[in-house]
Amino acid sequence: MWRIFANVAAGAACALALAARTSAGDIKKSPLYGRIKAAIDAVPAIDTHDHLRPFDQIPNKDETDRGTRMTLHSIFAGSYFPGIHRLTPWPAGKPFDEWWATARNDFRDTRAVSFYRYLLPAFRDLYGIDFDTITDEQARELDAKIATNYKDDAWLMDVITRRANIELMLIDPYWARLQFERAYKFSVPVLNVTMLISGTHASQFANPLDSPFVFAERQGKKIESLDDYLGVLDMIFTQAVAADTACLKSTQAYQRTLQYDRVPKERAAAAFGKKADELGPAEFKAFEDFMFWHIAGLSAKYNLPFQIHTGQARIQGSNPMLLVDLIDANPQTKFILFHGGYPWVGETAVIGMKRRNVWIDSCWLPTLSYTVAKRAYQEWLEAMPSDRIMWGADTVQAEGIYAATEFTRQCLAEALAEKVERGELREDHAMRIGRQVMRDNALKLFPKLKRMFWRTEGPDDVEAASQQ
Ligand SMILES: [Zn+2]
Repeated sequence: MWRIFANVAAGAACALALAARTSAGDIKKSPLYGRIKAAIDAVPAIDTHDHLRPFDQIPNKDETDRGTRMTLHSIFAGSYFPGIHRLTPWPAGKPFDEWWATARNDFRDTRAVSFYRYLLPAFRDLYGIDFDTITDEQARELDAKIATNYKDDAWLMDVITRRANIELMLIDPYWARLQFERAYKFSVPVLNVTMLISGTHASQFANPLDSPFVFAERQGKKIESLDDYLGVLDMIFTQAVAADTACLKSTQAYQRTLQYDRVPKERAAAAFGKKADELGPAEFKAFEDFMFWHIAGLSAKYNLPFQIHTGQARIQGSNPMLLVDLIDANPQTKFILFHGGYPWVGETAVIGMKRRNVWIDSCWLPTLSYTVAKRAYQEWLEAMPSDRIMWGADTVQAEGIYAATEFTRQCLAEALAEKVERGELREDHAMRIGRQVMRDNALKLFPKLKRMFWRTEGPDDVEAASQQ
C-alpha cells in the first residue's frame, strides 16, 4: 500500500517537475516572472547613457515625396541594425512604397539578431505591430504614424517619461562635447572627454563645439604649452561641475587600444603643439596615455565618475582587463566599465569583484546580445555586491529608447526570475536588485541627480535616500 502510494506520489512529483520544466522553457510565461517584471517596470528609471539630441536635431530624417520627415527608415537608420546588415537607403524624394519594396527584405537573415530584436518592443507596444510578421499595409501605416508623431516633441516626451518610465537620462553629447546643455527636463549633462585626450593641436578639433582651444579663446586664454592646455582643462571641468554634469565619458575604444601606459609629463609636453600628422604613432599614443591618466586624476579631483567604453568597438584592444593597472593606481577615481565589456563580461565581473572603485554599466549590452546580457547579470550578481551595476538605453530617438529600455527590463527580470526559480535568490531580494540596477545605484553614485528630480519624490525613494 505504502509502496503503491509512494509510486503514485513519485509519479505526481515527476509530473510537477515536468510542469515546472515546461514553464522554465519560457520563464517569461510564469507568474513569478510576471511579478518581477511588473516590479521592474514600475521603477522610474535612471538611464545612465543615451545620445538624445535636442528635438529639432533628432537624426536620420529622410527626404520623401511628402517633405523631410521621420520615417520607418529613420527608426532603423538610428538603430544598431545597420551595424550588422545593409539597410536600404530611402530613395531621395520618393514615396514610402518605393523604399519598402526593397527594404522589406532587409530583415530576412536577422530574425534572431539582438540588433534587430531589441527594436521589436517599440513596434509592438507603441504601434501595436508585430514586426516579424508585418504586412505591406501595416508598414505603410506605421511609417505614416511615425511621421505624425514627430510633428512636435509631445510624442517623444510621453514615450520617454511615461511609456519607458525614465525619470532622468544622462546624455553623452558627442555632437557638442563642451556644451553642458539640458535640452529636456529629464536630461543630465555628461562631459565627453574623448577629444580632450587627443588634443595635441587645435587642428585636432574639426567641430568648434568640441574644441578646448575655442573654449580657451572665449575665456581670453592662450594655449601655448601643455601646462596651458592642462590649465584650460581645469577651467572646463570647473564649468562642467557648475553645470551639474554627472560624470565623464570616453569612447576612445573606437579609435585605439585601452592599454594606457604611465607616461612622464615630459614626453607628452614634447608631443604637444604638433599636428597629428607630425607625430609618429608611438609619440601620439604616449600623449594620449598621459592625458588619459591625467583625466583619471581630474575625475577624482572634481568627483566626476569616469564612464569608459569597453568591449565591442575596435575589438583588438578593448578588453577591460587592459585598464586594471590604471584602476589600481587611481583608487580615488570611480571607474564605470561600459557595456559590461562585451564580450568580456566575465573579465568585467572579476574586475568588479576585486576593485571597489569599479562600477559596471550594462548599457547597450542586451542590445548587443540578449543571452549574454542575461548571463552577465547572473554572473555579476554572483561575483560582486548588487549596488555597483547600472543600465542605459544608449540610443537616439523615442522608439529606440523605449525599445532598449523595455528589452533591458525584460532581460533583467528574466535573469532574476531564473535565479529565484532555482532557489538561488529570494523573490523580495530579486525585486530590490531590480530597483537598484534600474535606479538606486545611479542615484547613489551620482547623488547630485536628486537635485534634478522633476517628478514628485515618492515614498519609494526612502531606501535610496537613507543609503546616502
Ligand atoms: Zn553610447
